[in-house]
Amino acid sequence: MDIRIICVGDELLSGDTVNTNLAFLGDRLAQIGLAISEEHCVPDSEEAILRALSLCRGADLVFVMGGLGPTRDDLTRPTVAKFLGRNLSLDADVRAGIQAYLGLRARTLPSDALDIQSQVPAGATVIPNRNGTAPGLLLQEDSSRWILLPGPPREMGPMVDNEVVPMLRQQAADWDAVTLHVCCRPESRVEKTVHEVLGDKHGLHLAFCIKHDNIMVRVSKRRSDGNSGELPAAVAALRRTFGGLLLPDDCPSAAAYLGRLLRERGLVMATAESCTGGGIAAALTEIPGSSEWFAGAVVTYANEWKTRLLGVPAETIAKHGAVSEETVQAMLNGLVANYDVPVGIAVSGIAGPGGGTAEKPVGTVVVGAIGPGWREVRSMHFNGLRDTVRMRSANAGMNLLIEHLLENNSAG
Ligand code: AMP
Ligand code: MG
Repeated sequence: MDIRIICVGDELLSGDTVNTNLAFLGDRLAQIGLAISEEHCVPDSEEAILRALSLCRGADLVFVMGGLGPTRDDLTRPTVAKFLGRNLSLDADVRAGIQAYLGLRARTLPSDALDIQSQVPAGATVIPNRNGTAPGLLLQEDSSRWILLPGPPREMGPMVDNEVVPMLRQQAADWDAVTLHVCCRPESRVEKTVHEVLGDKHGLHLAFCIKHDNIMVRVSKRRSDGNSGELPAAVAALRRTFGGLLLPDDCPSAAAYLGRLLRERGLVMATAESCTGGGIAAALTEIPGSSEWFAGAVVTYANEWKTRLLGVPAETIAKHGAVSEETVQAMLNGLVANYDVPVGIAVSGIAGPGGGTAEKPVGTVVVGAIGPGWREVRSMHFNGLRDTVRMRSANAGMNLLIEHLLENNSAG
């Protein structure tokens, strides 16, 4: 199915509003095995909307989002009606529905605004809006369907989930798809392994992308190609190969997975953080109930505090530098000894933009993890700006600990 999106709104092009509707719809469609083939983002201008509509002519399904509001700048409804040659007329049921919605909230709308939002193009099906005033509209024209949705995400989202997805799921999906998330491995290695495991299975489509340093692997297959066992067999083979490196379906992040592994093993951890500034602790405490397995963080940014709070010998820092395997080893020692936790992560790195040297350029990061009977310290290098280096350092710390918990599968 060829699916196109048109997002309408000046604010989407001026940087005032991030186009989250596109991402939301892309995600919901992907979940039922459908993909958006193209998007156009246009200002609130009749000319621009008409141009985008023309470009989408012939597609199976076109979503037009935004511009259904009651103000003068909202042009989507009349412009689509003009484009498809449909007359607009006031729909009494829609008007009554909007009034009932407003009445429940003790609100009113000027009657001309109410009239604008009650206009329905001839032949359109109305999609009810339970979270706002502008209804969605569905128009069929030859083999193309045009779906108009309101811009506000809290109105558009439930309409997609409650009305649009069920409708499309029934008719659409010729595709079955399964998405796996692999942690602790770089994308190139994951891709190589997937190809080795699956070989030349021509009916399978593979897609890879990095999301929060985990590698998303989507395996999909057209139902009409037959051989319905091929997708489940491929997914089972990948599950066997990646094993514990796959994030469980109910753990959307490495932090959540780390919490799961610690809880299963009855372990409690802490962090000693320099360049991440508590970023690992922030990610871990996002997980509800994390106090069960996360004790706290020691953020030691200045060298002196590494010595004072973690007992890192000043000579170690002077000799090897704050960003060194020796210093991170000492941070791990201090964390476990001073704070009486069996498991820990330590990180020290040069996030930039300053502070790099020829020997240790910006992006040089040392991460360490320690647990009952094991420890590892690794030097790494990350490209990117300060935020990226800090985020990737935090992920690297969590991933290193996950790897060791998987390897040392015994309770502490
Ligand atoms: P509209 O239907 O054009 O009146 O849109 C109303 C509000 O919805 C706008 O003020 C935006 O903040 C929001 N909105 C519209 N389109 C999008 C989009 N593509 N992504 C996120 N928010 C949007
Ligand atoms: Mg608008």
